[in-house]
Amino acid sequence: MVTYRVDVRPILEEIGGSVSVDGSVEFSELVVGDETFLVTAPITFSATITNAGDGIVAMGSIEAPIRATCSRCLCEFDSVIEGEIEGFYLQAHQERAEDDDAEGVDEDGAVDLGPALVAALVVEAPFAPLHDEDCAGLCSHCGADLNTERCDCSDRIDEDHPFAALRGAIGLDDAAPVSGSEAGGQEG
Ligand SMILES: [Zn+2]
Ligand SMILES: [Zn+2]
Repeated sequence: MVTYRVDVRPILEEIGGSVSVDGSVEFSELVVGDETFLVTAPITFSATITNAGDGIVAMGSIEAPIRATCSRCLCEFDSVIEGEIEGFYLQAHQERAEDDDAEGVDEDGAVDLGPALVAALVVEAPFAPLHDEDCAGLCSHCGADLNTERCDCSDRIDEDHPFAALRGAIGLDDAAPVSGSEAGGQEG
């Protein structure tokens, strides 16, 4: 669990009052579903914590330098996850709605930003990380990294393949494989 407690006693009696925090937290990995991202440097954030009257609201931004594994070619690459912090905290006397998942202001008059920090990163973490949007991935037959090498798997005729005969009949054997990204041409 990530914990980052901030003393909010100065604003507890002052609706509209706020405190600002610039901080950093260190944890070694961020686990999102089946994906584990190695955190490569301290995570930095800045947040403003405001007494909104019906609760204490934390808002801000956070950046986590991470190392991820490309979901296509399995290479490791460095990236940054940027997220928006949104936290909501109730004081002991404030009523909690039934569907409310607000945290509480603790007895010492502090709020724990930790869960909001983690949540901000989790929602922005890539579901299927790519080291490059155009990553060509690995050959499903021989495992060659198609970003850096060519294999002849796609040129080989698989006799069991239902289209093998058709392929010969319409002369596809002579056709050079067309790369989608190269054919796409100019950008900008
Ligand atoms: Zn890749
Ligand atoms: Zn291959």
